[in-house]
Formats: sequence, C-alpha cells, structure tokens
Amino acid sequence: MPVESIFHRLEALLPKVQKPIQYVGGELNSTVKDWDSADVRWALMYPDAYEVGLPNQGVAILYEILNELPGTLAERTYAVWPDLEALMRAEGVPQFTVDAHRPVRAFDVFGVSFSTELGYTNMLTALDLAGIPLVAADRGEDDPIVLAGGHAAFNPEPIADFLDAAVLGDGEQISIAISEVIREWKAEGRPGGRDELLMRLAESGGVYVPKFYDVDYHPDGRIKRVAPNRADVPWRVHKHTVMDLDEWPYPKKPLVPLAETVHERFSVEIFRGCTRGCRFCQAGMITRPVRERSITTIGAMVDNGVKESGFNEVGLLSLSSADHSEIGDIAKGLADRYEGTNTSLSLPSTRVDAFNIDLANEFSRNGRRSGLTFAPEGGSERMRKVINKMVTEEDLIRTVTTAYSQGWRQVKLYFMCGLPTEQDEDVMGIADLAKKVIKAGREATGSRDIRCTVSIGGFVPKPHTPFQWAGQADHETVDRRLKALRDSLRGDKEYGRAIGYRYHDGKPSIVEGLLSRGDRRVGAVIRAVWEDGGRFDGWSEHFSYERWMAAAEQAGVDVDWYTTREREENEVLPWDHLDAGLDREWLWQDWQEAVSGGEVEDCRWTPCYDCGVCPTMGTEIQIGPTGRKLLPLTVV
Ligand code: SF4
Repeated sequence: MPVESIFHRLEALLPKVQKPIQYVGGELNSTVKDWDSADVRWALMYPDAYEVGLPNQGVAILYEILNELPGTLAERTYAVWPDLEALMRAEGVPQFTVDAHRPVRAFDVFGVSFSTELGYTNMLTALDLAGIPLVAADRGEDDPIVLAGGHAAFNPEPIADFLDAAVLGDGEQISIAISEVIREWKAEGRPGGRDELLMRLAESGGVYVPKFYDVDYHPDGRIKRVAPNRADVPWRVHKHTVMDLDEWPYPKKPLVPLAETVHERFSVEIFRGCTRGCRFCQAGMITRPVRERSITTIGAMVDNGVKESGFNEVGLLSLSSADHSEIGDIAKGLADRYEGTNTSLSLPSTRVDAFNIDLANEFSRNGRRSGLTFAPEGGSERMRKVINKMVTEEDLIRTVTTAYSQGWRQVKLYFMCGLPTEQDEDVMGIADLAKKVIKAGREATGSRDIRCTVSIGGFVPKPHTPFQWAGQADHETVDRRLKALRDSLRGDKEYGRAIGYRYHDGKPSIVEGLLSRGDRRVGAVIRAVWEDGGRFDGWSEHFSYERWMAAAEQAGVDVDWYTTREREENEVLPWDHLDAGLDREWLWQDWQEAVSGGEVEDCRWTPCYDCGVCPTMGTEIQIGPTGRKLLPLTVV
C-alpha cells in the first residue's frame, strides 16, 4: 500500500517557522522512489538541524547506496527546530522525511548516524514525533527497527534502551547486508515477528542488539559482566571495515542543498583511517587501518562530482589529508585541471609536520589564501608527548614561518585543555607558543599585519582509546586554566592584539564525558533531560548544564563517578563487548606509556606495533604510492 505524503499538512505550518525551506526537500540529486517499488525502506536521520545534517558524508553515502540497491529505498530526515516541533505536536503532524514527506514510522528501518553523543536527545524528539515508542521494549510489530551508526555507536550503551540495534564501523556493506536480511524475513512472511528479525541480525555477528545482552553490576556500581542472554548471539560484536575504497566511489551524485548549510562543497574522502596514534583521538583509533583511495579514483570522483553538483569548491577529506601518499600529485593534478576556472580546492585537516609549502601553493592556486589551521593540541612539548602528537615547537615555527612568508596572514592553532597529567604550565605554554608564532611571522614578513587565532576545546576521554581509563578534568579546573590563558594573551602588550582567542567553557565537556563513557544507567538521565525540554545539546544556545545535572540527580546518577574517576585496568568497561579491533592490552600499555611520556610511531612507515586491528579484523594497511598521475581533462 502506498504511504501518503504529509506535505499538505506540513505546508500549512511552514509560514510560521524559521527557515521553512529546510523542510521542503527537492534538492538537486535527491531521490524519491515509488513506495511500492521497494520492499525494504530506510529512513536515515542525522540528528541535528538540516544545515548541519545535509553535508554529512556518512548519511549521504548510505542514501545513495541504498537507493541504488534494487527493491530498496532510502529517504532522509533531520531534527526539526523547536518552533516546528511545537506546531507539529499541536497539529498532530508526525516526523517526516524531506524527500517524499512520508511519515518515519512507515519505514522498516529508522537509521540514525551519530557523530557526537550530543545528538541523543534529538533522536528522542524524532522518535516521539514519529509515534514510535521511545523504549525499544515497548515497540510493536509495525514499528521500524531503530538502528544507530556513526562514531558514537562504538559505545551505544547510554542509549541502549532506546535502540533496537547498532552497527559499528563502515556502513557501506553492512547496510546492504541488513537490507537483504530484512527482505528475506519479509518475503518469508515475517516469521517470529521483530524478535526473530533482530535475532537474525544479531546472529550474523555484524549487528549489535542490546536487548540480547544483560549487564550485571558489582555493589559499588562497576560493571561485573556483560553477557548474551540468548544462544547463538556472539559475546563480542565486531566493527565493519571496507577494504577497497575504490570499489565504493560515493557520493556520485552529491546533494545540493536549497537552504544554507555549514559546508557547501563537494567532498571526497581521500583515505579512511589514521595510524598516527594520537591517544585522545577516537576517530583515529576506531577507523584503523589506513586505506587510501587511489589518485585516479579521486580524480574521477572530483570530475564527476563537480559536474553533477555544480559546486565550485572541492574538499579533500580524511582525518589528516596531507598524509595521503600521493597528496602532492593529487593537489597538483587537480590544481592544473581547474586552473582558470572558478573551482577551488580545500584541505580541511592538515598536520603541522605534513604541511609543505608546495602543497599549500597548489591548494591556493585557484582560490583565496584563506586561513591555515594546525592542531598541535598540547601547549607544551611534554603534553604533546603524553598525547603522542609528535609535533615539536621547531616544526610549528618553521611551518608558520613558511606560510607567512608565502603570503598567508592568518594562522589558526587548535588545542585541548584538560588532557591527562596536564598542569597549569602546560596550558600557559599555549600563550608562549602563540607569541612565538606572531614573532616569527613578523620577522619573516617585516610586517605587523600577522594574525594567529588560538582555538581551544575541553578534552573528553573516549571509549576505544588509550585514554578510556583516564579521569576527566573537572570543569572548574578547565575553566580556571582557560581564564588564566586568556588573561595572559590579552594582557600582552607586544603580541596580545595579534592573537585571537576562542574557547568554550568546561561544562559541555562534562556532559559529553558522561555520555561518551556512560553505561545503560545513563539512559535515564538522557530521557529526563529530553522530558524537561532538552533539544539540540550540541548548540550552546540550547545546551543547559543545569538541566543535565538536575536530571542526573533525579536519576540517581553520580556524574563525577562517570567522568572524573580514573578506571583500574581490570574494570569491565561498558563497551568491552564491542570490538573496534584494538587489543585491550595494547591500549592499556599505550595508556601507561602516555603517563611516562613514551611515543609510538605511525605503522604506515614503521613496523607494525601490534595494536591488534589488522589480525583481528583481517585487514591491512593499504597505501600507495601508485605512481599514477592525473591526466588533464579535455573539457573542464
Ligand atoms: S595491527 Fe599493526 S599495521 Fe595494523 S593498524 Fe595496528 S599497528 Fe598498524
């Protein structure tokens, strides 16, 4: 039976809300398939506003792959702003997809991609507006399977009660496999109802179904054990790894937004994974090993994506883009191709030590010399050793000197505050570094027209990293250090006016810490926050620390116990049954090395140091150089 569009009901509400265009769909390259042409239907959500969610690569890639799959359709839905939410509640309009404005509850799967834990309350809003029971145990046969993915799904325990399932790692292949399991189960007449469907997904070992695992606790609150409560369910659920990115050249048809979004460019992921070994970096740890996309595939994707979208900016994405083994040839080849056109290139993430001026010149050949961003992360040499960010002060000064002397006027430096073992002087080291950067820039150019912006965020220990055992710094300590740094920068007569300073206070990091390393008991806090009106927690104007603390108290959850408490080696962590491939012993040893200042090299260029990923996951490092070159295009 076709499912009716709810657009006629939504349309009457749109004149009354801000930015109504974000809800109308119809973007270039969006897809609306006939409902009855598919027997498996996905509603994909990025749990934030349209302007943040539309450029998200993960959702965009799955949207295309699933729509290409015969008998499958996928549509997108985003978090609606509180003004529309109020009107939808008043008028009984359900959560809808922007593609065909179909009600989310009509789909087979409601897949939510979490880049950050601060999107959890927005998922609850969407479930509630959709008419899907918040708690998985209350759902009936007609409700979709609520499935989480994305980096935050590597510890989905705080939202375990609200989820039917979660998937770890790369989504390309597993989303197809899940579709096939659902198709088969539906074709057989849905034997055993949704319980059997979830069982079939769990048995495969590639989908985590929280309700098939029981958690026991020690009297002191620590977890005693997490164990399957059904036979045939694996003790550990493994992440998924796509081994040949050239076989998955998505997005092929980039979505072009009608409303304003945070990035308006065609983005190509040039490699996945990172083995630099920065100890705070969950993204680097959980996406191992490094797998490069070849220079020729990148060239073809850029050519195709620019033609299909009309975007005039191309972003070469990855966790550290300048580390691609052929980045020089990629940059030169693309800059040659688009010379004299209005298409420019950008490299959103660059390591200080991987930056070189030839590369920077290629990237600015067809565009403006906008600011350069580097992330030393730690303010002192000692701190950078602890976090394994092997960037020396000389590296940084040499790099910025080159950049300033080649015409750049603005450099942005990114740091973290509250890192393990951090002392006041480590943070004050940031001020010294910034002043040295300005001094070097002035000397290199003979000009005082040089700027440096220091941007600083609070550190949050993350699961599946060596810092997963660390005690998080309390927000009072972080705030005190940030204030002292600000006073030092502002009070400096010689350099203060040339240095910009951006920071967030430490409170949001505590809530993120609670959600990152939380267990199932934290779910009650999320629900209480949501019931009290919590929405868009990633937005400072909507976030309320007081609301989270009140909800924690109401739920009997001790926030300090989850955040500032250091864990012992043998404590069962809430995510230990979820396998990112990293050997627990290796992670522990690396944590011990961190405290003693020991460094780890990058296994791309040095022998394997047995982090465990490749043997456990059956993967291997996959890098060039291929020696191939990008050929000029006949028609640009
Ligand atoms: S197993 Fe070895 S080669 Fe593979 S990511 Fe870990 S350290 Fe690198």
